[in-house]
Amino acid sequence: MTDLEQLALRAGRELEDATALEILQWAAGTFGSRFCVTSSMEDAVVAHLASRALPGVDVVFLDTGYHFPETIGTRDAVAAVMDVNVITLTPRRTVAEQDAAYGPRLHDRDPDRCCALRKVEPLERGLAAYDAWATGLRRDESLTRAGTPVVGWDARRGKVKIAPIARWTQDDVEAYVADHGVLTNPLLMDGYASVGCAPCTRRVLEGEDARAGRWAGLGKTECGIHT
Ligand code: SF4
Repeated sequence: MTDLEQLALRAGRELEDATALEILQWAAGTFGSRFCVTSSMEDAVVAHLASRALPGVDVVFLDTGYHFPETIGTRDAVAAVMDVNVITLTPRRTVAEQDAAYGPRLHDRDPDRCCALRKVEPLERGLAAYDAWATGLRRDESLTRAGTPVVGWDARRGKVKIAPIARWTQDDVEAYVADHGVLTNPLLMDGYASVGCAPCTRRVLEGEDARAGRWAGLGKTECGIHT
C-alpha cells in the first residue's frame, strides 16, 4: 500500500464526521495545487465550498460535446463570478469525428463506449496533474453511491478521491444553495433532478430517484467515472 493510499484511508476514517468545508480545508492544506474539483455543472456547490477552502481552486469540467446549452452557460457563469479556475477537458474526437469512426448516435447503441470515449478517457488525462480530486457524489443519490467514503482511494487512477458532501441530503444541498446564492443549472428548475448529456438525460417523474432520468431505458446508471 502506498503512502498516498494510507493517507486516504486514514483521512476517510478521521473525517467521516467532519463538515464538508473541513474536509475540503484538509484537502487544500494537504495537496494545495495538486488538488482539484470536478463538476458536471449541475450546480456549483462543491466548487463554491472548495473555493472557500482554496481560493482559485481548479474546477475541472468535461465538455462531452453533448451538453445542454444550459450546462455550458452554467460553466461560463461559474468561471465569470466564482473564485475558481475552470478547466474544460474535451474528448480526443469531436462528435462529428466520433460519428465518422463509430457511426451516428453511439450513445443509443453503445453508451458505455460513448462514455468511455467522451468522459472517462478525458478525465484520466486531466487528472494526471493532481494527487487528489473532489466530486459531488452523495450517498442518498442512488444505491450505487450509498457507500461513498468522504475520503477514499481511487485505485484505478492512484489518487485520493474526496466526496465532501457524501453525507448531505438533497435538502442540505438546497439549503446551501439558498444560503450562499450558489449558481445552479436552470434545468433543475425544469423537472431535471440530475443533469448529464442531452441525449441521455430526461426529466424525472414523481417518486423516481434523482438519477432515474439518466440513460433511462438503456440499463445503465453510471458513466464509468465512479465505477
Ligand atoms: Fe455519450 Fe450519453 Fe455518455 Fe454523454 S452520457 S458521453 S452522450 S453515452
